[in-house]
Amino acid sequence: MEIIRIAVLSDNYIFLMLDLERKIAAVVDPAEAAPVLAELARHQVELVAIFNTHHHGDHVGGNKELIAAFPNVCVYGGAEDRGRIPGQQVYLGDGDRVQFGDYPGDRLRQRIGEVFFIPGHTRAHIAYYFPPIEDNVPGELFCGDTIFAGGCGRLFEGTPAQMVASMTKLRQLPDNTRIWCAHEYTLGNLKFAVTVDPENQELHQRLVDVTELRTNLVPTVPTSLGLEKRTNPFLRWDVAALQASVSSHDGVETFARIRGRKDQF
Ligand code: ZN
Ligand code: FE
Repeated sequence: MEIIRIAVLSDNYIFLMLDLERKIAAVVDPAEAAPVLAELARHQVELVAIFNTHHHGDHVGGNKELIAAFPNVCVYGGAEDRGRIPGQQVYLGDGDRVQFGDYPGDRLRQRIGEVFFIPGHTRAHIAYYFPPIEDNVPGELFCGDTIFAGGCGRLFEGTPAQMVASMTKLRQLPDNTRIWCAHEYTLGNLKFAVTVDPENQELHQRLVDVTELRTNLVPTVPTSLGLEKRTNPFLRWDVAALQASVSSHDGVETFARIRGRKDQF
């Protein structure tokens, strides 16, 4: 399974999964249709699935036009998003499974994606996780606006406790998991991160590295879960240094205070 990253709008990423064996594709959070249609044509594949993580316009904006171009496409989203995602046909909850992707060496098998219910950014947000199918190959996590490289989504419809519970689910995945988040917010996130985790040398180095990458307009997505666990303050609510920096001894409180500071940053 090949994954293509398409940069759209000011800072969104759309992800296209290709199964070149079967000549089909699935798209995650199509903010717009035109660039997706162009990639589908370039690879001569048929779109069979739209995987939406949540209902925001910059994640579902291309749904209608893609459905018009591929009437047989199946539109997936969270069960709690009923009525908010254009064309939604499948209503997914925690532990549900989806199928997409080739299995090298076995033409009949398809990859299985696992669904995580991760409310916080919105009350209905879900993630799609495709576990590794071979040793030493990373799994792929499509988490929308929940984990960002160096940050996390704003709490529009959820509480800090919900977001910590959601992050706890995702944090248990293998460290080499590739995280395909929906925005290029990394540089701004890291500039904030160093203010709440100032003793973290790896974080400082990451800020240097990402500054260089972004100067050259190089994408910083996908990131990896291991790197995020070490340098993203929104996955470190239980680390003593982070708790001390916001004067809290409680994980959820620490997360809430860091999120509050980021909102003001
Ligand atoms: Zn969003
Ligand atoms: Fe978004």
